[in-house]
Amino acid sequence: MKNIIFVFALMAIMSCQQKSNQLISQSEKVETVATPEQKAPSYAVTKSEAEWKAELTDLEYKVLRKAGTERSFTGDLWDHKADGIYTCRGCRLPLFDSKTKFKSGTGWPSYYQPLNDTCIAEDTDYHLGYARTEVHCSRCGGHMGHVFKDGPQPTGLRYCINSVSLDFVERKDAKP
Ligand SMILES: [Zn+2]
Repeated sequence: MKNIIFVFALMAIMSCQQKSNQLISQSEKVETVATPEQKAPSYAVTKSEAEWKAELTDLEYKVLRKAGTERSFTGDLWDHKADGIYTCRGCRLPLFDSKTKFKSGTGWPSYYQPLNDTCIAEDTDYHLGYARTEVHCSRCGGHMGHVFKDGPQPTGLRYCINSVSLDFVERKDAKP
């Protein structure tokens, strides 16, 4: 009789353990799904949405922070021909040299290369339903425009940039 009670007790303990093991593995599974490792890029210049809104005009905010696009031929820099440096309107980082600006006929400022290898960062966007290479300021993440492979030599690239994302500094005033 004692043995029978012992066996029942053992079975009860074992089934409890099994259940608790199942619960643990289920909760682990849920936790893994709920917290995917998505690392947001970190920029040297970071501001809250409220700070950006306070600093930028509505159009600048829409383009720089929400990856919008100004209407072609409406910006102040697409036909701008002065000698100097184009900087990020969000954080003033120098991004393009007027020597690499060319007439693309698109109504947006166009350059065949950035000022250096580090100032412009790239990403892929699918806003129009197909992949395009989005370009943004590497210091504040401000959206600039896109880069296409139909530009002039020596690079064959066309950086198609929103006027509203840029400021212009004459060469004599630009920091070396
Ligand atoms: Zn910037």
